[in-house]
Amino acid sequence: MECVIKQTNGTMAVAVGTPAGVVTGEQLAKIAELVKEGAGVAKFTTGQRIVILTSADKVQAVRDGLAEVGLKIGPAGKTIRNVKGCAGSLCRYSVQDGMKDAMALDKIFAGRSMPAALKIAVSGCPRNCMEAQSNDIGFIGTPSGYKVYVGGRGGRKQVLGQMIKEGVKPEEMPALVEEIINKYLSSTNGKERISHVVQRLGAEIFK
Ligand code: SF4
Repeated sequence: MECVIKQTNGTMAVAVGTPAGVVTGEQLAKIAELVKEGAGVAKFTTGQRIVILTSADKVQAVRDGLAEVGLKIGPAGKTIRNVKGCAGSLCRYSVQDGMKDAMALDKIFAGRSMPAALKIAVSGCPRNCMEAQSNDIGFIGTPSGYKVYVGGRGGRKQVLGQMIKEGVKPEEMPALVEEIINKYLSSTNGKERISHVVQRLGAEIFK
């Protein structure tokens, strides 16, 4: 499901899918053009996305414009959301490349249909700028690999994710995420997020 949401003032909020919040100059210029042709205002979200405010009749033009620069409308609802990543190896504190690894996961998983929202975040060091434990699946970089957390969420009933593995290498992340998703799908009642499954059955089932 695409993230296109009607706002209280009648405009449509269209969230651009930006893996780890990274865009090129060309992409940003196109986004700026679409913003100007729309309501003239954009908003950055906590999910590292830019929301273009526009009118309902221009949503298709936004979709087409984004496609011209290799972007698309980001996922919403019962899907795997765009994967959040920190500055990674650009950051002087990094011990893992949280940006590159988040973008690699986004390429594989973002937009996949799920029984409920599924959020993934990757931090390149224990300073944990991406607040990994507040996501369904979170990674925190250490010198020996990533610590992996499951079952976190924000919102009204915040829950901290629990650690299930450590020392996970970047190349092992996609298979591990697939494994966590498969365990989740075989355990959920069809509506639960991972955090609900962890609360009901414990984090051990993901180990
Ligand atoms: S999590 Fe660590 S590596 Fe990533 S931006 Fe923050 S301080 Fe830098």
